[in-house]
Amino acid sequence: MSDCIFCMIAKGDIPSNTIYEDDNFRVILDNGPATKGHALVLPKEHYADLFDIPEDTLADAAKVAKKVAASMKDKLGCEGLNLVQNNGSVAGQTVMHFHLHIIPRYSDDNQKILWKPTQPSAEELVKIRDTILGE
Ligand code: 5GP
Ligand code: ZN
Repeated sequence: MSDCIFCMIAKGDIPSNTIYEDDNFRVILDNGPATKGHALVLPKEHYADLFDIPEDTLADAAKVAKKVAASMKDKLGCEGLNLVQNNGSVAGQTVMHFHLHIIPRYSDDNQKILWKPTQPSAEELVKIRDTILGE
């Protein structure tokens, strides 16, 4: 994808604040961070989203995130961490190249939890379960 910004960054054609790199991934600091250290795991190959990325590459991305998360805890002293991965503009995806957000959390970071809980009835939950199971 020659016009994809994350392809260019992942391949090193555009400079970035890289905090981890191997043959298949680059992890960069987000330039609009939610918190101090907010980073993005970018596969070097272009995949649009979760539906597109091969299972093995997804598993490898999770392993990279775990490594980086450990160093964030150690070096930045975060107290918690969110792993976020948006798929489709309805879910907040703005760059259509698969990426995992690693968002370190601090008690004074002034950020929120991602969603507001709703209160479906027990029947509604059963209906949704059956729909997903194809029953
Ligand atoms: P999404 O909303 O697609 O899940 O996340 C895209 C993220 O990429 C956003 O958090 C945004 O700040 C970040 N971002 C967009 N363009 C660039 C860029 O050119 N460089 C860096 N470092 N981050 C970017
Ligand atoms: Zn791309």
